Amino acid sequence: MAVYNLGSINADLVYRVPHLPTAGETLASVSYTRGLGGKGANMSVAAARAAARVVHIGAVGADGAWAVERLLEYGVDTRAISVVAEPTGHAIIAVDDAGENLILLYPGANQAIPEADILSALNGAGPEDTFLLQNETNAGRFAACTASALGLRVAYAAAPFEADAVAAVMPLLDLLVVNAVEAAQLEQATGLGPSDLPVRDVVVTLGADGCRWYNTDTGEAQHFAAIPVTAVDTTGAGDTFTGYLVAGLDRGMPMAQAITLAQRAAAIMVTRAGAADVIPDLKDLEDARF
Ligand code: ADP
Repeated sequence: MAVYNLGSINADLVYRVPHLPTAGETLASVSYTRGLGGKGANMSVAAARAAARVVHIGAVGADGAWAVERLLEYGVDTRAISVVAEPTGHAIIAVDDAGENLILLYPGANQAIPEADILSALNGAGPEDTFLLQNETNAGRFAACTASALGLRVAYAAAPFEADAVAAVMPLLDLLVVNAVEAAQLEQATGLGPSDLPVRDVVVTLGADGCRWYNTDTGEAQHFAAIPVTAVDTTGAGDTFTGYLVAGLDRGMPMAQAITLAQRAAAIMVTRAGAADVIPDLKDLEDARF
């Protein structure tokens, strides 16, 4: 039982500004913080926090040693992270006093993961393991094909949504997780609603409305209400949900139990500002008053 997660690793460079800059403007920021982010890193940390054995497959540049160290600190196996010539992916995030933001994303090393390194990372993995991916790397289809051929359960968060990337991996999937916007984009691209997709389990997350699980084998759909909390920052809610969900399934939980665990973790996550660095662990879930 292990989760092999192919995904992005980003430095989230957050600048607080009095207002969002306009074209041609030079603006001094009030503060600066560097956090660990990227959907891939967030999901690896979430799955590790949920007590899964997690192998992260990805790449950083020579400037990314701190990010790898942080993943390691959070309990992620980092031995399959390649160091490549491109700089580490990063997001330059300006946030104003009203909470509005402006984000400039540089994918960098996330788009230069060597296929040979993916093959060696998956060497030894098998049907008792889970492969997880999102859409922020260069190698999704290659890695998903490799993992599927080795018999791993394949789970996919179709974010950020790209119709071609989704179509390329759809036939390989055991589990698909999308938010409401992505579900609508998917329906527009394929003409298929969640219950008609060729994937056994489909989970659509609905923000404060919880989520819906479609079992396309039985044709049943089940709604799970979200846990009521006061949200302060929804960054990483979906990533935390998916990391916990996949970890629960990898650890042998039935779907409904894994979804309940994932919603508890995501509810705590929306009460915290930040990304990978503030993903709750199982102790936080135990201590929570819900
Ligand atoms: P994404 O972050 O990918 O857009 P969602 O916004 O659908 O995903 O959130 C993912 C999950 O996080 C939801 O299914 C829910 O469990 C939890 N969640 C999100 N927003 C809230 C909220 N305001 N209150 C409680 N739970 C929330």
